[in-house]
Amino acid sequence: MLKFFNVNFKYKNDSKLLIDSLNFHVNRGEFISIIGPSGCGKSTIFRLISRLEKSSDGDIYINDKNVNDIDSPIGYMPQSDLLIPWRTILENACLPLEVGGRKQKNAKKKAEEFLEAFGLDSYKDKYPKDLSGGMKQRVSFIRTLLTGAEVMLLDEPFSALDAITKISMQEWLLNQWSKFNKTILFITHDVEEALFLSNKIFVVSEKPINKLKEVIVPVGYPRDRHMLSRPEILSIKEELVNELKQRVEL
Ligand code: ADP
Repeated sequence: MLKFFNVNFKYKNDSKLLIDSLNFHVNRGEFISIIGPSGCGKSTIFRLISRLEKSSDGDIYINDKNVNDIDSPIGYMPQSDLLIPWRTILENACLPLEVGGRKQKNAKKKAEEFLEAFGLDSYKDKYPKDLSGGMKQRVSFIRTLLTGAEVMLLDEPFSALDAITKISMQEWLLNQWSKFNKTILFITHDVEEALFLSNKIFVVSEKPINKLKEVIVPVGYPRDRHMLSRPEILSIKEELVNELKQRVEL
């Protein structure tokens, strides 16, 4: 459903390519994590999919349609929650619907339904400053979901959370994913997080990025954290950590 075909990209002031003839594809409904050293170009892949940057060569397709010909929004959830401080939680959640041209009353009704479904309706009249980090990320996720996009691009959404909140957010996210039938691409630095969440892990193995090494996580869903201590998962974890150690010097 998502396909990169010979994609090249470099930032304007750079002399070298950051992405060089990259090909990969993601099937509908997959949960893919992307891991690799900082600065190797992971977020740039998201910026290309969400059309914030344009490839210099090659094409990106969603459902066989070139992203440049798609009008609908792409669900991009950046690292920080980017909630607007002077808007209430409900007004923040409404944003993609309003931007998409829905009447305000109608947008509010839809966003209210989602906040209720996610157990956040009692916070709808509060402001971002009143919410914990984990809750703000939930609102940010709902807002991304309300774009209606089939592909959700989540860029290290839990990296700023404390360890316990992070674990509960990972379980929460898997639960939501099982309900909403979306395709998720998830950038993380955390190998355990990638193993727990995804059915496939893409490892950035070269700079410029010329290919993504695919590692399958051989465990079905639903999952619980015990899967992380299975021998086959421990051996994949070791392989990934070694791979990343070598790539730090990229
Ligand atoms: P990652 O997500 O893997 O940490 P990024 O995709 O954010 O990496 O960045 C890849 C490289 O591109 C880095 O060297 C970064 O400094 C550079 N870069 C990122 N954004 C821009 C930009 N807007 N203009 C120029 N260079 C950029």
